Amino acid sequence: MRLEGGCYCGAVRYVAEGEPMMKAQCHCRECQYISGGSPNVIIGMPADGFSYTKGEPKAFKRDDLPRAATREFCGECGTHILTRAAGFPGVIIKVGTLDDPSLYGGPSIAIQTADKQSFHHIPEGIPTFERFPG
Ligand SMILES: [Zn+2]
Ligand SMILES: [Zn+2]
Repeated sequence: MRLEGGCYCGAVRYVAEGEPMMKAQCHCRECQYISGGSPNVIIGMPADGFSYTKGEPKAFKRDDLPRAATREFCGECGTHILTRAAGFPGVIIKVGTLDDPSLYGGPSIAIQTADKQSFHHIPEGIPTFERFPG
């Protein structure tokens, strides 16, 4: 699978190639800041198939948390593009940055449901995890 995408203003562009490693919606409190309040919809892709093709993202990592994720985003328009998380061997791309988000097809799991809000919806029939699978 070859996915192309970028930020809202077009300053940062990327290509991600390979087999999707996971398709999830994440309910964690941190994702709520980034999504605007809803669960974040994300697709994990192999890191070695991912590259930026235009621009350089800014990166942010909290230094007050153990094993904090690094979040990469456009420094011009602020669009969050992906996360690199300790313990996950790929890049975790925000589906909203895909040129064609319909390629996502929907999440196969819901994670971090311990932080779920009452107005979040989980598709019927998918496995849910209070934090992470396994
Ligand atoms: Zn941008
Ligand atoms: Zn999250």
